[in-house]
Amino acid sequence: MLGVVLFIMGATGCQAQNKKMKEEQFPIKKTEAEWQAELSPEEYYVLREKGTERAFTGKYWQNNAAGTYYCAACGEALFSSETKYKSGSGWPSFWQPVAEDNIKVVMDSTLGMVREEIVCARCGGHLGHRFNDGPKPTGQRYCVNSASLDFKPKDKQ
Ligand code: FE
Repeated sequence: MLGVVLFIMGATGCQAQNKKMKEEQFPIKKTEAEWQAELSPEEYYVLREKGTERAFTGKYWQNNAAGTYYCAACGEALFSSETKYKSGSGWPSFWQPVAEDNIKVVMDSTLGMVREEIVCARCGGHLGHRFNDGPKPTGQRYCVNSASLDFKPKDKQ
């Protein structure tokens, strides 16, 4: 019983935090109409509507090239190929962002689960979720939609 009460309290706290995050301003501010004009329909669905691309369909889950993954909406550097690994999930998976400050973690209590949503700290674009079943040294799995990313190979940076 106590567990149920604590769970409800936790979920309520998450909702309050989500509301706060929605009201929080990111450095890059654009209207949804502006984002819609700039992004492809799939990018808009994932980045702005918090959609999820189907597993094993994105352009980067199998990408093994050396380079950097940038936010497809604003160009912020998010992940390095050096921290990418094969998770088997069907989405690009990383055990660490290029810098903790470049990503914000938001509590997500949709779909009957409590998860950690990850968003771009610069534009607020939805990236995916963070789980704690990743490899060493962090033990974290940043599970990211390919549609949220823009990869630049190392030799072209
Ligand atoms: Fe961004």
